[in-house]
Order: sequence, then structure tokens, then C-alpha cells
Amino acid sequence: MSALIIAIDGPSAAGKSTLAKRLAKDLGFTYLDTGAMYRALALKVLSEGIDISNDGALTELIDRTEIDIAETGGKLKVLLDGEDVSEEIRTPEVSQMASKTSALKVVRHWMLLLQRALGQRGNVVAEGRDIGTVVFPDAEVKIYLDASVQERARRRVEELRKAGRQVSLDETLREMGERDKRDSERDLAPLRKANDAIAIDSTSLDAETLAQRVMQEIHKKPLAN
Ligand code: C5P
Repeated sequence: MSALIIAIDGPSAAGKSTLAKRLAKDLGFTYLDTGAMYRALALKVLSEGIDISNDGALTELIDRTEIDIAETGGKLKVLLDGEDVSEEIRTPEVSQMASKTSALKVVRHWMLLLQRALGQRGNVVAEGRDIGTVVFPDAEVKIYLDASVQERARRRVEELRKAGRQVSLDETLREMGERDKRDSERDLAPLRKANDAIAIDSTSLDAETLAQRVMQEIHKKPLAN
């Protein structure tokens, strides 16, 4: 029997990760954080000082890069060449570089193959920007999650501060706006709602209410019962 896939797309800090983790836990599915994979590659690009306008250099880098995600004790680990980089990939610099490199054909092509291979591991909850449109267009349940830009920035600031980083709301608003613009305007797999995705605005929803709302959609599918 083919695996059940739940696709969650949307702009940054819309609540995708919280929702995806929660659903994966409740359903016993694998959590596939595709943004973390783009971030891991971006971290390597930054640490090696690769010029991303040089296709050859980028291809050569990809050829000697391994990215994997693994869950241990309910925590997601992002492995870059076998090393746990889960913390390092969460900086604003890595966010920007992930957004820049993710617009490139050689990167998207590689990620598509990797992500589809990871999807073979069984039932998954996958989150990103192009999950319902490109990576898993046949996903059984598709959610497009959005929230007001102010609320998204507030959440991102809170998340970064919890991780011990001092960031301002203005700086975060600017960083997020730049990234969302780039992600939705790029030629390849831009951020957009799949025609058959359910759009949810999470601005005034708490995590619990949102998860319950999506669970209802999942239980409408015969395979999930
Ligand atoms: O979701 P997250 O903020 O971790 O993603 C980091 C960046 O990776 C995004 O800004 C986007 O440019 C890119 N990305 C993408 N396609 C995905 C997931 C993430 O282009 N499916």
C-alpha cells in the first residue's frame, strides 16, 4: 500500500513546523522538514564560501554533500555529512542563503530527488514551500498555512529569542519579507497554494485548535482511519 502523505506549505513562520511536528507525533508519521534540508546545504555553502552564481562550484559541492534527517526521542536532527547541524541552521544568515540557493535549478533538482526518496520511508508529514505543488503533488491532504505578516514576525522573534538570539521585530520583518518575496517570485517551484490545498489562516488560532482543525481534514480521508 502506498504511504499517506500530508503536505503543509506556506510562508515563513506561519506555524508550519509546530503543526507538522504535532501531526507527525499524534499520527506516528515521519516528519519531513524540507526547509531544514535547504538550510543544511546553505550552511555548507556559507562555511565553504562558495560563489552560488558559479553553477560548476555548486554542483561540485552538491556531489560531495550528504543531507539526512532523523528523529530521535521526538526531536528532529538534521545531519549534514553525518554531523548534527540542527542548531546552526536556524540563524537569519542561513535563512537568507537557503532562500537564495533554493531558487537555483541544480539545488532544486537535487532536493526533489532527496525529498521524494525520504518520502519512501513511509507515512509522512512534509512541510515546505512546494510540497503540495511539486514534491508530492498527489499528497492525500494538502494544507496551505498563512498568517498576518505582523503575527508571523512576532512568532519568529519569539522563537529566535528563546534560542538565545537577540533580534529586533523590524529586522525580522525585513528579513522575512525579503525571503517571502524571493520564495514566491522565483521561476522554479515558487511558493503558492496548490489548487486542491485547504487554506488556513493561523493568525488567531492557537496550536491546539489548528492541529484539531487539520486532524478533522485528515480523518475525512478513508486511508487515515
Ligand atoms: O521553512 P524554512 O524557513 O526553514 O525554509 C528555508 C528556506 O528554504 C525558505 O525560505 C525557502 O527559500 C527554502 N525552501 C524551499 N522549498 C521548500 C522548503 C524551503 O524553497 N520546500
